[in-house]
Amino acid sequence: MEKPKIVILGGGYGGLVASRKLEKMLKNDEALVTLVNKHDYHYIATQLHRTGAGTAVDNKIIMNIPNLLKTNKVSFKKGTVEFIDKQKQEVLLENGDKLSYDYLLIALGFDVNTFGIPGIEEYALKIRSFRTTKAIYHHILNQFESYQSDKDPARLAFTVAGAGFTGIELVGELIEAIPALCKKYDIPVNLTRIINIEASENVLPGFDQEAIEFTTKYVKKHGVELMTSTRILEYNATDIKLDNGTSIPSKTLIWSGGVRGNKLLESLDFKLNRGRIEVDQYLRVVGTENIYCIGDSAYFPKSENSCLPPTAQVAIQQAEACAPNIVAALRGESQKEFEYHHKGTVASIGTTAAVGKVFGFRISGLFAAFMKQVIEARYLFVLGGPSLVLKQFSKTGKPYLQAASVQESK
Ligand SMILES: Cc1cc2nc3c(=O)[nH]c(=O)nc-3n(C[C@H](O)[C@H](O)[C@H](O)COP(=O)(O)OP(=O)(O)OC[C@H]3O[C@@H](n4cnc5c(N)ncnc54)[C@H](O)[C@@H]3O)c2cc1C
Repeated sequence: MEKPKIVILGGGYGGLVASRKLEKMLKNDEALVTLVNKHDYHYIATQLHRTGAGTAVDNKIIMNIPNLLKTNKVSFKKGTVEFIDKQKQEVLLENGDKLSYDYLLIALGFDVNTFGIPGIEEYALKIRSFRTTKAIYHHILNQFESYQSDKDPARLAFTVAGAGFTGIELVGELIEAIPALCKKYDIPVNLTRIINIEASENVLPGFDQEAIEFTTKYVKKHGVELMTSTRILEYNATDIKLDNGTSIPSKTLIWSGGVRGNKLLESLDFKLNRGRIEVDQYLRVVGTENIYCIGDSAYFPKSENSCLPPTAQVAIQQAEACAPNIVAALRGESQKEFEYHHKGTVASIGTTAAVGKVFGFRISGLFAAFMKQVIEARYLFVLGGPSLVLKQFSKTGKPYLQAASVQESK
């Protein structure tokens, strides 16, 4: 008899944790599992702001996917998903390959939501993947290099749109990165600007007042021009037009104004809510029996009008619950309802400060920055046990800002 085929789309937090769980749960030869991802590396998405600012070493952010799979129960296929044919139970890849499935798990992550603001799609830089954040880093270097010849002040104005979780984490890294680059290019720091624009009244919407106050004070103390209650109306690659009638000359606008489900989901015939696929209590796509969806691609209702947020914590917990449900389905056993347990949230503001709440306790400053590292280590532990934690933490190599040579910066 032919073995059932399980296909997992996306090797991010959700897809990879689900793959590792299936490796542990499935008996040899019980099913054929294939994990499909655009690239053969997994990136730690929660650290991408560091890649963008050049404050992290690449090999700490990306890991080879086949090396993370520990058995031959899951095979890896590098490919870009283009379409899912539900009738034929097939996944079509960009290169024309087709993969048939009995059970499908969609974990294709997020896309940036630009809310249709003119010029953002075309000219703003985006924190979406390892590649797009590398592009941010190289763009910043280019601004420093070009400034040396044209002295255009707009090149030294680094603007981040959004002071939510990701925006603040990026601003925190820029606070450390920009002075280092000034030193490297011999440009006075006081000629540079870090600007952070946020439509809400405060930074870090959703965090408590103490965290908001700590963060606001911290970024302002480090020279960040924080503009809250301000909306961006348009961007044309050189000027940011604001709703208060002014504009900012800036050749760098990094958009961190929000995320939505992967755009590919729109072309698939599933029930979407705010760009994400609606799933039931078992994480099954509404209206299907054998298709599951987790992480940023999934709309898992929290209340009548809201869903679980797009976080790594949610993606990991859903992966850990979804893999047993797929195994139960193929064994003809009953599936379990997914329950989310929020353990806390910590946002970094550079390498030495952070704010958040862990298990109900408010934390801030250096201790919170340490806790952020603990959270990262825990994820590595889930993926590959203590050996992966040790391997990743002992990897050496200087962040680009310290090691950058003329060669690298071109
Ligand atoms: C800078 C930053 C900081 C963050 N910090 C935190 C934090 O501190 N805590 C927290 O809980 N969350 C944080 N998040 C959110 C968290 O990273 C996401 O919620 C999490 O990555 C979602 O996991 P996922 O598996 O759904 O998607 P992802 O991890 O995005 O994985 C999706 C995968 O699918 C692949 N893919 C996409 N399209 C295709 C295609 N067509 N074909 C093949 N493969 C494809 C991608 O390459 C990727 O590997 C942060 C996000 C960012 C950007």
